[in-house]
Amino acid sequence: MNQLTSAESSTSSHSAENKQKYNFNKLQKRLRRNVGKAIDDFKMIEDGDKVMVCLSGGKDSYTMLDILLFLRKIAPIHFDIVAVNLDQKQPGFPEHVLPEYLASLGIDYKIVEEDTYSIVKDKIPEGKTTCSLCSRLRRGILYRTAKELGATKIALGHHRDDMLETLFLNMFHGGKLKAMPPKLVSDNGEHIVIRPLAYCSEKDIQKYSDAASFPIIPCNLCGSQENLQRQNIKMMLQDWNKRFPGRIESMFRAIQNVAPSHLADKNLYDFAAIQTTGAPVADGDTAFDAPEFKDELAEENRSDVQIVNLAD
Ligand code: SF4
Repeated sequence: MNQLTSAESSTSSHSAENKQKYNFNKLQKRLRRNVGKAIDDFKMIEDGDKVMVCLSGGKDSYTMLDILLFLRKIAPIHFDIVAVNLDQKQPGFPEHVLPEYLASLGIDYKIVEEDTYSIVKDKIPEGKTTCSLCSRLRRGILYRTAKELGATKIALGHHRDDMLETLFLNMFHGGKLKAMPPKLVSDNGEHIVIRPLAYCSEKDIQKYSDAASFPIIPCNLCGSQENLQRQNIKMMLQDWNKRFPGRIESMFRAIQNVAPSHLADKNLYDFAAIQTTGAPVADGDTAFDAPEFKDELAEENRSDVQIVNLAD
């Protein structure tokens, strides 16, 4: 009897393990597929590129590096990867963690040591937010490092949810319709910045990072509170997502599907030059008709399912 019980329990733990493995493989496939698609859609990486992958020690950048290393192996083009971490000398920063991890992968990497922490503490009065000076300093150091390393692309670990949060931050606090681009030239005009996780959800990344047991370095070592406005937007989006499943996906599709004629930016659309055409105009003004979303939403939901399942 005892034997039977133990056999049964071993079978059930086996099937739980198999299920876990199956789910992880599905998740991994989906993330790889989404990164590959973003790279392709925005021509992020080209033959001969040297990609500087910025590694903070958080879940996003570990996941990005892991997936880029895989894609490099199977890509039909040749590109190099060099991982870079900036040790900002925050108190308690576990400086052995990243070198040990990167050495275990056997890849090129560079740890840049710059005490921006002291500069920030020195310049910013107690109680004021330190993030804007800190990130300005970090940006400058990363640009300089990219130049020294001869990197042709700088890869950052921002994902889809970061992009949407930025969209709302800019709308709510900056009066701009502007998100975070998958690919853009750097503000000093000297580098091309790419975000290969642009199509990946934070939830997937979190699950992947947990399953892969990356050696995460806490991100609050500087003692600064995470930007409160961003935190509020994040909560708003999470709340919407719970109450209206599919809304996040729909909003992300919206930033890929912009109709300048239906906004009010006269620099983006030449309203002064509008003329009648005498023939039906696709997407012309429907005057008093209320917009209809039913079919579009259903269509969107179908497409979302497709996107999610692309990698399955
Ligand atoms: S949270 Fe800390 S390390 Fe991050 S940007 Fe702000 S000050 Fe810098």
